[in-house]
Amino acid sequence: MTQRVVIIGAGIAGLSAALMLAARGLDVTVLERQSAPGGKMRHIAIGEARIDGGPTVFTMRWVFDEIFAAANARLEDHLTLQKVEVLARHAWGSGPRLDLFADIQRSADAIGAFAGPKEARGYLDFVARAKKTFAALEAPFIRGSRPSPMSLVSRAGLGGVGQILATSPFSNLWDALGAHFGDARLRQLFGRYATYVGSSPFLAPATLMLIAHVEQEGVWLVEGGMHRVARAFEELATAKGARFRYEADVAEILVGNGRASGVRLADGEVLQADAVICNADVAALAGGRFGGRATRAVEAVPRATRSLSAITWALHAPTDGFPLVRHNVFFSPNSRTEFDELTEQGRVPSKPTVYVCAQDRGDDDTALEGPERLLCLINAPARGDYRPLSDAALAQAESTTFETLERAGLKVHRSPQTTQVTTPTGFDALFPATGGALYGQSTHGWSSSFARPGTETKLPGLYLASGSAHPGAGVPMAALSGRLAALRITDGR
Ligand SMILES: Cc1cc2nc3c(=O)[nH]c(=O)nc-3n(C[C@H](O)[C@H](O)[C@H](O)COP(=O)(O)OP(=O)(O)OC[C@H]3O[C@@H](n4cnc5c(N)ncnc54)[C@H](O)[C@@H]3O)c2cc1C
Repeated sequence: MTQRVVIIGAGIAGLSAALMLAARGLDVTVLERQSAPGGKMRHIAIGEARIDGGPTVFTMRWVFDEIFAAANARLEDHLTLQKVEVLARHAWGSGPRLDLFADIQRSADAIGAFAGPKEARGYLDFVARAKKTFAALEAPFIRGSRPSPMSLVSRAGLGGVGQILATSPFSNLWDALGAHFGDARLRQLFGRYATYVGSSPFLAPATLMLIAHVEQEGVWLVEGGMHRVARAFEELATAKGARFRYEADVAEILVGNGRASGVRLADGEVLQADAVICNADVAALAGGRFGGRATRAVEAVPRATRSLSAITWALHAPTDGFPLVRHNVFFSPNSRTEFDELTEQGRVPSKPTVYVCAQDRGDDDTALEGPERLLCLINAPARGDYRPLSDAALAQAESTTFETLERAGLKVHRSPQTTQVTTPTGFDALFPATGGALYGQSTHGWSSSFARPGTETKLPGLYLASGSAHPGAGVPMAALSGRLAALRITDGR
């Protein structure tokens, strides 16, 4: 029986597995090479300010409710969450803006005023279709262990297969959106959901429209920031008996009697275990970062399958000229060019779409006095390990990014002292062997969802839990991956 579990990494999947296993009385040690939990859910310090430098959109609250409940705890006793009314504000240069709301009819009315009644009707059809897509995939794919196409069919049953086929898995998201929206701006807006898993709307399957449903179900603000989510998991897991060791860099997964038997740290220390959960990106395992035997435990992860990376600017700076809410998107003038540059040409878009998370704001867009905490993000190819951006390319990306904001009126009064930039090379250093890919393998083509590895590996006793494994990237999905690993160990399922 498995008693001692070592978890490599304190990202959300590692944290979820740690919490669930410690709550079941197992002896859990989490080894994290950084000095804090959270992985991508990290805080960036600029002076006194703490800025969320990774995920900012908290969705699928039920995932966290369920994991805490499995540990006999209530999420609301550990985190203060507030649901937003304005999901996001969208801007196209100096043209009219469009807000989407938690209330569907309010969004439909806004779309009607923005683009006419036909588009509003198209939106309502789209929302219904996204809901059906989520419903068709929730039980057989999102909650379950990794299916093959055949097992997905048998899990879904005859009725379910019809529903899955109705999600248009063989069309791309961009084409599917064309059935609902004639206005190119709306197609661009909803196509952007593909980037939530580091993919292009021109290559991702239409099923990704389920992300629109996920947002519609609720976007929450976390008091203290997203990093607080990681701390809440760490604190509860510790209370249940898990041990966390930071600045503990795992160099090798040890094998004994044909199974994973522990790990060796970079400083030579050995920890024995009955099971090892790897929360590092699958590419790190496949790329040999944990020793030869562990390398063969998973399939190779070709560079060509990497999801997108990003360039981010964390800032503590005054702004003016644009009424920011928490989540804001400033669109590129041409989606096709933007994604061609990203995925075909492998370069930073010449005119990028810019996401701005204004972390001192919620729904209220009143101007703030003094500096505010911002995370600005553009997508970039994940080539940080073999083709780092030159200084000139980074300077160019920075000027086009802030020009995009300025075209919509937003002026960010920044200086080098109040800005911290992270490039794909920086992300690669934080998440080794990824090139900076932030979401595991891209979700391009209908079969890509089945290409992500499941919980089990070819090495008995070695399990995967991460956004690069099934069911996929994003904080809640990675948390589900951690839950799957824990259940595999405790219940054999
Ligand atoms: C800029 C950005 C924006 C994002 N926006 C969103 C969003 O708004 N909403 C959303 O849901 N998701 C978002 N995501 C995606 C989301 O953050 C990830 O999918 C999720 O956090 C991944 O969690 P994970 O469990 O895979 O672990 P990770 O966060 O990848 O953490 C893995 C951990 O393993 C550790 N590790 C690796 N190797 C070793 C080793 N050898 N020894 C010890 N430790 C090791 C790493 O240090 C790290 O802490 C965003 C990501 C980024 C970067």
